[in-house]
Amino acid sequence: MSTMNTMSISPIPSAKQMEKVAYENNKLHKRLCRQVGQAIGDFNMIEDGDKVMVCLSGGKDSYALLDILLTLRQRAPINFEIIAVNLDQKQPNFPAEVLPEYLRSINVPFHIENQDTYSIVKRIIPEGKTTCSLCSRLRRGILYRVADELGATKIALGHHRDDIMETFFLNLFFASKLKGMPPKLQSDDGKHIVIRPLAYVHEADTERYAAIKNFPIIPCDLCGSQENLQRKQIKGMLREWEKKFPGRVENIYSALSTVVPSHLMDRSLFDFASLQATGIASPDGDIAFDEEPCATPQPNVIKFHTPDADED
Ligand code: SF4
Repeated sequence: MSTMNTMSISPIPSAKQMEKVAYENNKLHKRLCRQVGQAIGDFNMIEDGDKVMVCLSGGKDSYALLDILLTLRQRAPINFEIIAVNLDQKQPNFPAEVLPEYLRSINVPFHIENQDTYSIVKRIIPEGKTTCSLCSRLRRGILYRVADELGATKIALGHHRDDIMETFFLNLFFASKLKGMPPKLQSDDGKHIVIRPLAYVHEADTERYAAIKNFPIIPCDLCGSQENLQRKQIKGMLREWEKKFPGRVENIYSALSTVVPSHLMDRSLFDFASLQATGIASPDGDIAFDEEPCATPQPNVIKFHTPDADED
């Protein structure tokens, strides 16, 4: 008796469907280039003659960062060098050959720094305690040293818009600080400039881009550390808001670049003590009797960029 094969076979996509996929992929690539280009320009992240050290972890975001920076370098009116750097922290089962193979295949200069921070962290931090803070401190110090040795003038990290928002809320909820993750900052040793060219990019886009480009992703849980629960909660909260209140998260993100120190309470940012009436009208003056700005919600009114004609 013959048995019927129950395995489902996915239908072969039609030429039209394939054309649509190619069109969407191209649109995503253009959007990433535009957003990264805009962030670089807005914050003057890269200048003529820079040597940019791109920190590559093997995760989707750092691959996307390197890929987009390579594209932009070809089109840029300035000259800058790119060198990819990976810190092999000797985590168990780290596939040490994956990144060198990939970087050779795309012909990008690179340096792999071998430092067993994993053993140091395991030795110092008691079992069950969170290891991330010591681990990242060690990693930071090593990367600064490597940047010096390579003569890098900028250190590029793959943090994106979602990381920035999550960090902002982590600081707000757990550290009582209005503090985010800036697109450009001086390193804590005062010697380097750290840049985050993906600052305007959504994580969903780096995720899709990594899948399209088939980057050889290295899992991020090799160290065995538990996922940061607070960050996970914030991520969930933001996703929920995005679904329930369209425009809210976008507005908060936009607010990070529209700060009004005279309407907050930080005396180091605004000299409240010397404030006197000048007799001159000011749009930043108090409008205590006006309607609250939240009285008329306007979802989706804040846009960061003028969309490309082919994007909408
Ligand atoms: S998740 Fe692991 S590798 Fe990453 S910072 Fe924490 S301990 Fe280090």
